[in-house]
Amino acid sequence: MNHRILRCCVIGSACALVAAGVLEAKLRVVSTLQDFAAIAQAIGGDRVDTFALAKGYQDPHYVDAKPSLVLHLSRADLLIVAGLELEIGYLPPLIDQSRNSKIHPGNAAYLDASIGCEILSIPTQKITRAMGDVHPSGNPHYWTDPENGRIIARTIAAKLAAIDPKGTETYRENLSAFDTTLDAKLVEWQVKFKPFAGTKVVTFHDSWPNFAKHFGLEIVGNVEPKPGIPPTPSHTLEIINRIQAQHVPVILVEPYFDTKTPKSIAARTGATVVTLYPSVGGIPEIKTYFDLFDTDLDLLVRALGGVS
Ligand SMILES: [Zn+2]
Repeated sequence: MNHRILRCCVIGSACALVAAGVLEAKLRVVSTLQDFAAIAQAIGGDRVDTFALAKGYQDPHYVDAKPSLVLHLSRADLLIVAGLELEIGYLPPLIDQSRNSKIHPGNAAYLDASIGCEILSIPTQKITRAMGDVHPSGNPHYWTDPENGRIIARTIAAKLAAIDPKGTETYRENLSAFDTTLDAKLVEWQVKFKPFAGTKVVTFHDSWPNFAKHFGLEIVGNVEPKPGIPPTPSHTLEIINRIQAQHVPVILVEPYFDTKTPKSIAARTGATVVTLYPSVGGIPEIKTYFDLFDTDLDLLVRALGGVS
C-alpha cells in the first residue's frame, strides 16, 4: 500500500474511504527550524503535517538528539534543512539513526533551503579552529532576510510538487498567496522601520547580518568574541569601548543566551538590551514567518524610542 494511504483501518468506513483514495495521509514534512516548518505549512496547507526538530526558543546550532526526533525523521516524507553546516553538530547521526534513506543529503526527500538564497559572510581565507565556529560556506542565519524567505517558499513549493504531484495546483496557489502577503508586509515593514535605518547595533551572536542588511541596521560588533565562543573580559571591554565611541543604542540578544554580560555592558554604557527572536516559535505569539518580522520590528522600534 502506498505510504501516503492510511495503513491501519480500524473502522470499516475508513477502509472504504482509503480504498477509494478519498482519505489520504498528509505528507510528513520535518524541518530543522520552525521557520521552514511555518513556510512549508503555509505552502502545503492541509496536504502537509509539519514538525521542527529545533524549537524557535532553542539555539539552532545545538539540538538535544532525543529518540523522539529520530522517530519523526524515520517517518518523514521530506526533510528541510538550513544547510551551510548550521546543523552539523546534531543532524547527521539523527539521519543515520532514522534508517530513512530518502532523507539522506542528496536524495529526493532532502531539501537544503539555502539554495538560491543570498548568503553573506562567505569566508575568503582558510578557516582555522582559532576562528571559532565559523561556517565555511557563509553565515547560516539567512532566513532572517524576508527576501530569502520568498526564495525558500519557492524552493519548498517546487519540492512539494515534485514529491506530491497531485498537490501541484494547491502549492502553486498557496505560494502565490504567500508572495502577495509578503509584498504587502515588505512595504509595511519598510515604512515602519525607515526612521531607524542606519542604527548601529551590537548583537550577541552573529545571527543577524541578513536581517541587518535588509532593514538597514549596522552591526558594529558581537558580544561573543568569535561565533560560539562565550564572552571574555578583554573582548567585553572592547565592545564597551566601541558602544561608547559609536553611541550604539541597543544590544540584541537571541532568547537562548545568558543576558549577564549584555546587561553588564548595558549598565556601563547606557545601551538597552533587547531580546530579538531569530526564529518562528521564539515566543508562542510568533506562529508564522510574517509574525517573526512583525514582532522583531515592533521590539526594535519600541527600544529605539519609536511608537510600534
Ligand atoms: Zn551561528
